Amino acid sequence: MNEAEIQRQKEIKEAEELLFTGPQALGFAKGLFLGRFVSDWAMPYPRIPAAQQAELDKSLTEIREFLDRELDPTAIDRNADIPRSLIDGLARTGVLGMTAPKEFGGRGFSQRAYCKILEEIGARCASTSVFTNAHHSIGIRALLLFGTREQKQRWLPPLVTGEQLAAFALTEEEAGSDAANVQTTATPSADGSHFILNGEKRYITNASIAQVLTVMARTLVPGSDKTAITAFLVTPDMPGFAMLEPRMEKLGIKGTATGRFAMRDMPVPKENILGPIGKGLKVALTVLDFGRTTFGACCTGAAKTCLQMAVEHANKRRQFKKTLGDFDLVKKKIARMAADVYAMEAMTAVTASLIDRGLEDYMMETAMLKVFTTDRLWEAVNDAFQIHGGSAYFTTSPLERMLRDARINQIGEGSNEVLTSFIALVGMRGPGMEFKEIYDTMFNPARGLGKAWTAGMNRLGAAVKVPSVPVKSDSLKAQASQLGRLIWRFNLSVNKALIKHREPVMDMQLIQERIAGAAMEMFASACVLSRLDSDLQGINQNGASAPASRRAAQLFLRQSFHRIRWFLSELTDNDDAELLATANSVLGKEERPRSNGA
Ligand SMILES: Cc1cc2nc3c(=O)[nH]c(=O)nc-3n(C[C@H](O)[C@H](O)[C@H](O)COP(=O)(O)OP(=O)(O)OC[C@H]3O[C@@H](n4cnc5c(N)ncnc54)[C@H](O)[C@@H]3O)c2cc1C
Repeated sequence: MNEAEIQRQKEIKEAEELLFTGPQALGFAKGLFLGRFVSDWAMPYPRIPAAQQAELDKSLTEIREFLDRELDPTAIDRNADIPRSLIDGLARTGVLGMTAPKEFGGRGFSQRAYCKILEEIGARCASTSVFTNAHHSIGIRALLLFGTREQKQRWLPPLVTGEQLAAFALTEEEAGSDAANVQTTATPSADGSHFILNGEKRYITNASIAQVLTVMARTLVPGSDKTAITAFLVTPDMPGFAMLEPRMEKLGIKGTATGRFAMRDMPVPKENILGPIGKGLKVALTVLDFGRTTFGACCTGAAKTCLQMAVEHANKRRQFKKTLGDFDLVKKKIARMAADVYAMEAMTAVTASLIDRGLEDYMMETAMLKVFTTDRLWEAVNDAFQIHGGSAYFTTSPLERMLRDARINQIGEGSNEVLTSFIALVGMRGPGMEFKEIYDTMFNPARGLGKAWTAGMNRLGAAVKVPSVPVKSDSLKAQASQLGRLIWRFNLSVNKALIKHREPVMDMQLIQERIAGAAMEMFASACVLSRLDSDLQGINQNGASAPASRRAAQLFLRQSFHRIRWFLSELTDNDDAELLATANSVLGKEERPRSNGA
């Protein structure tokens, strides 16, 4: 084995330890890759129980009134600051501790209900939603999920009331997308009572306004010479903590304080460790699952604002003696935005409900939600911007700010490229392992046929059986069966890709992008079908209806099915070889022949 191969095997082993510990039920996304439709993860559409809904409605009314009165996104952007009065109001209305248990002063809301609140904030001001996310979705999350009872009792009360603010500090110069490459060290003190932290963190939201930071640092694994990441609760009054840049100047979400800080020989009591020593990466990735879900909610809110602004402008602005909304190329943008908004909301609701139901291993679904909603918001802002023409370009327009604000979403909490690759690789692992079992047994029959037989039957079963997508509404049966057939076709395409490319597929990101793209569209379509089915059943019961949103949902399904077919056909009919050769030549890289599906 050469050095690169040894490194790869090490990475695979680390990833497997991180992602596949313990028995897990088959989730929706993993099911797709095995040719199955795991319906109970997406259907029926999650509804908030009546008692919770009443509480949520009350909170939403209070928060809307407060935001109408106090939130000025233009001023926040211009002053590059979120006023303390706004933070106090968010605290008063419960936003800063919404999902924390009531016994620690929180509201005990579900993730689904919290997402509705964040959608409301995201619709108005991205700085405020990112601030809230940094404090609540990720800042206090490790404490909520991994803190001991004593730790929660000690730290949570002032954080859920907003008396103190929180931040989550993973990123460093060497650990950006490569989150596992944290260089900050934590060395036990001689008497074992403390850990001494040394290192620098950068790009940390709320760093300079937080009183409690969850910091990831590298510790020695007890009883070995290896190191692993551990999560620590840090306060800025600890000796050795130095704020290097409290507010890094930036393009958008200007109201947030994005900071860079150093820790020099900083003692942190061992009681401040969150979760097991050496399991900090798992802590961080679990925390980010929550962050990515609320990202979905914030992006949905912002996309709704874009749609509303686009509709108002298209109905008002006249050119060529017509309103802009009379032109098909404007209609195309508005219809697509409406379709995407419907899907974004449905996908956020379904993903948040996975967390609420206590299901395990929804990392793929949260990654899909993050990539899908951040990409669609970027398109929605761009479309709304285009419809507004020159007027959008000036700083008097909210769209100018919204465009700048939306750009961070595709980068933060895992760049969309890294997550796209992750979705494909984790998904392909299921069928890949079954093929490996069959292959290994073929070349070493002494292993016994048992496992290989099961794997072979699974692969064969998926190849001959079209999964059923259960919907109640007769009017959706055709779309449901189309989705089932597409899942079947997807499974065959993934199998073919695995057989054709074998292990090198792990490096073939263009193939991965199409596989992940198709999987994301199938997840989005399942969520849309689920929501539309539930809406239609509601209409049948109550007589209430919203024809525009139903049409948008139908359009989404049509367009999404087209995109899935396109992704799958591009797996074999593409320009990858030419594309990669061109990139290599432009980058000045040596040509390395590789099978790439072209
Ligand atoms: C405003 C702001 C707020 C932030 N807040 C926080 C916070 O509160 N806490 C925190 O810990 N971090 C925070 N971050 C950091 C953020 O999560 C990182 O910026 C992000 O993870 C990307 O890391 P990087 O910037 O080092 O980019 P890099 O890792 O250098 O990546 C740059 C680009 O390279 C490409 N790329 C990288 N790896 C791959 C790959 N494997 N395959 C294909 N393409 C790849 C992607 O296009 C990526 O966007 C924040 C960042 C910003 C800008």
